[in-house]
Amino acid sequence: MPLERLVLRPPETGHKILIAESGLRVPDDPIIPLIEGDGIGPDVVRAARSAIDAAVASAFGGRRRIAWYPVPAGERAMFQYGDMLPEATLGAIREYVVGLKGPLTTPVSGGFRSLNVALRKTLDLYANVRPVYWIPGVPSPVTHPERLDIVIFREGTEDVYAGIEWEKGTAEARRMIEILDKEFHTRVRADSGIGVKPISETGSKRLVRKAIRYAIDNGRKSVTLVHKGNIMKYTEGAFRTWGYEVAKIEFRESTIPWDDVVKSHGGKIPDGKIVIKDVIADNMFQQLLLRPEEYDVLATTNLNGDYLSDAAAAQIGGLGVAAGGNIGDAHALFEPVHGSAPKYAEMDKVNPTAEMLAGVMMLEYLGWREAAVRLRSAVKSVVGSKVVTYDLARLMPGAKEVRTSAFARAVVDAMDGAGR
Ligand code: NAP
Repeated sequence: MPLERLVLRPPETGHKILIAESGLRVPDDPIIPLIEGDGIGPDVVRAARSAIDAAVASAFGGRRRIAWYPVPAGERAMFQYGDMLPEATLGAIREYVVGLKGPLTTPVSGGFRSLNVALRKTLDLYANVRPVYWIPGVPSPVTHPERLDIVIFREGTEDVYAGIEWEKGTAEARRMIEILDKEFHTRVRADSGIGVKPISETGSKRLVRKAIRYAIDNGRKSVTLVHKGNIMKYTEGAFRTWGYEVAKIEFRESTIPWDDVVKSHGGKIPDGKIVIKDVIADNMFQQLLLRPEEYDVLATTNLNGDYLSDAAAAQIGGLGVAAGGNIGDAHALFEPVHGSAPKYAEMDKVNPTAEMLAGVMMLEYLGWREAAVRLRSAVKSVVGSKVVTYDLARLMPGAKEVRTSAFARAVVDAMDGAGR
């Protein structure tokens, strides 16, 4: 079949979100680009879209609505237009500022390392933000999942995501080994692959700045800098130093380092101050299991954040209910944490909760809190009543197993009830 020429047309009604100095200017009918994704993507995105629309209608009556703008990416875009990530799609997200996406399959060979990484890098979405909290009723491997309620800010452009590495035996790897030996008197085995881990002051500070601002805006109590600075002093250690600097210089009025709490306030946090503390990455894993209530917002480098966010998600019931946002200075793209699970494609079977909670994050980002709260509460009430998809039903005694679309209808009905 010949490829089609891609011409994207935004919806006829709706307006652009504008980027102002003071923040986003969101109209009452923002145009939101929507990537439906691959595999189970269309099923979960359809479910989430109906739930988000219902939440907006329930919170604002007819005063506000989202003008969805479907844009292609992934396997279908490749099949139709010969490009997994068409420039027009990137252009639409750039132009309309905030988007929602379903999961995309990563091509196994050639091309992009990952479409998601390409999206984050091209749009400079440097903060990968993951709220991790428990929905009552969701089966969890820990005794008290309700004690964990954190938001992880993971740097999304540097560290291992910079993707600077050379295979063993290549001219580049040999040359790097030679430079290390001759110029820095550092011996590296000749049969080594070489990777470079860049962590910059700019990249670290903008990430920590975003985490602290989030903590202030959302009434959070602490920001913990998670690092491996005891071993990697000039990358991970520097991340910690720069994090404390941002707090001290830019947020002096609203933050206090933990050391000062101990030295000058007898261990009692002064009212209205957000505590800035730091924890070494390996310790952080046991802290989240043993003393989860002591942590609130975490800010961390790329690789630490990768491991931590999946481990934390497991504590509250796994990837099926975990959502995330990729956020830059203004642009943002929200998505579920899980992948495209191709074996369940078009079966109307999987759990759309993570995609719906990505919608909750998006509504919060738009400043439409009333709608976000309604959607989150509706999801909680449906799961709490044990109406769930197969993944949770198999772990919940007495559950009623429903399809993706039926779960979505139950969430919409829960909001209709609440709105009246
Ligand atoms: P996956 O798609 O997340 O699926 C792994 C398993 O997790 C599924 O077989 C299923 O478990 C469970 N699962 C995932 N989503 C679920 C949902 N909504 N409801 C219920 N159960 C769910 O991981 P994968 O198989 O490793 O990856 C498939 C593709 O997705 C790959 O191409 C990968 O690169 C891509 N991916 C994309 C993203 C993204 O777009 N952000 C993220 C991760 C992976 P059971 O088999 O036990 O039922």
